[in-house]
Amino acid sequence: TQAQIGVTGLAVMGANLARNLARHGHTVAVHNRSQSRTKTLVEEHGHEGSFVACETPEEFVAALERPRRVIVMVKAGAPTDAVIEEFAPLLEPGDMLVDGGNAHFLDTRRREAALRERGIHFVGAGVSGGEEGALLGPSIMPGGSKESYEALGPLLEDIAAKVDGVPCCTHIGPDGAGHFVKMVHNGIEYADMQLIAEAYDLLRQGLGLSPSQLADVFDEWNRGELSSYLIEITAEVLRQVDASTGKPLVDVIADRAEQKGTGRWTVQIALDLGVPVSGIAEAVFARSVSGHADLREAARGLPGPSGVPAGVLDESFVEDVRRALYASKIIAYAQGFDQIRAGSAEYGWEVDPGALATIWRGGCIIRAVFLDRIREAYESETPPVTLLTAPLFVEALGLAQDSWRRVVARAAEFGIPAPGFSTALAYYDSLRAERLPAALIQGQRDFFGAHTYQRTDREGSFHTLWSGDRSEIGG
Ligand code: NDP
Repeated sequence: TQAQIGVTGLAVMGANLARNLARHGHTVAVHNRSQSRTKTLVEEHGHEGSFVACETPEEFVAALERPRRVIVMVKAGAPTDAVIEEFAPLLEPGDMLVDGGNAHFLDTRRREAALRERGIHFVGAGVSGGEEGALLGPSIMPGGSKESYEALGPLLEDIAAKVDGVPCCTHIGPDGAGHFVKMVHNGIEYADMQLIAEAYDLLRQGLGLSPSQLADVFDEWNRGELSSYLIEITAEVLRQVDASTGKPLVDVIADRAEQKGTGRWTVQIALDLGVPVSGIAEAVFARSVSGHADLREAARGLPGPSGVPAGVLDESFVEDVRRALYASKIIAYAQGFDQIRAGSAEYGWEVDPGALATIWRGGCIIRAVFLDRIREAYESETPPVTLLTAPLFVEALGLAQDSWRRVVARAAEFGIPAPGFSTALAYYDSLRAERLPAALIQGQRDFFGAHTYQRTDREGSFHTLWSGDRSEIGG
């Protein structure tokens, strides 16, 4: 029998995607540079479905029905280019090459253009959900041509996570659109994780709650509007006790957050697009701060407040933090969706934000009840310019106001770092402001660089003769 689809690159992600496809009744050709991985997969999981183990690229390509569908699941970067170069000459016009790795969308645009010249559909597909998602149902964000989605969509939707029977997979848009939204997904994930971590820290330092008590708090929160995979696993991590020391595991894990780069890419691209994703940026920088052992060591003895005085905070602080977390989370997601809109406009992708929210409801790391609210907002008759103004979020932000401000104020007062909460509130207040001090900045720029300014009352560009008689010219 010919295989309906093939997977090359059988490390954890590729192997699990191949198993997922086979478990759904598809015949899957499997290949890996080192043959041992292919052998292991078939030996250990061959009984789960129909696999065609292939030793060489030629054998692999020959095993596939036409047009061929090949999923590449190898290390992102140069290895992906190497694999494309190896397989493209063996493919024919109309065949599809899907890169499911975490590629940079600009690489995907370059690869798509090059392969299009050769008649091959190159599909950059964001895949989220980690190992478990790949096996049991990821959220899949395929870019590439509409035509390729007709052939690939049914297979990918089949293996994707389902929420209310709706698959967490949809065609995102041409060329790099899929990898772009996956990148922003990861950026949002960074922001969400940072906010949760700050909530934990505020309650731990502020109220002196233990990790296991905090696990109960997060479990409780997981039953409400914050219900999400990240809140759920936070409770699990906090409840974990280290076998060798008997301490809470979170207390023996080194406090240096690492990163693989997609959060950083999100911020770099946001800077290029001019989109203020301050929540994501703070989250990336917070990880970076945590990893700067030298700076932290040097700063350890610096003066600060005397700590949290007994009796100042009570149980009501828990609800304050919960509301502040929800409000800050709304900001982070609103910023992420702004970036998607900006990227979509810049590259002409026409990404549908409602459809995107729909496929992020399940399978991926940021899956949450919350995404349903975002979907509703974008699918309403009057989609909001920013998610902040969607009626449901206006209400939530209103309810959170006092709590949010108290939490940020308390954090500052007691010296507990809360960069995510603080930047979210500052962004919110900046957007709401009647007037911003940007007017003063324009005045400064005009002073030292004659950069000119616009006036509120007249059209045109103006310049004050700062080093002359200070009269105004222009119009
Ligand atoms: P790795 O990123 O660790 O990559 C290992 C695989 O790449 C192996 O199959 C390896 O083959 C192959 N490979 C590396 N270099 C080459 C090369 N030059 N030529 C051919 N094959 C090569 O595997 P993962 O399964 O962790 O991830 C796969 C992709 O999925 C990555 O792009 C990753 O960023 C992305 N991803 C990962 C997630 C995760 O949770 N791990 C989540 C979502 C996406 P060999 O066995 O011969 O060394």
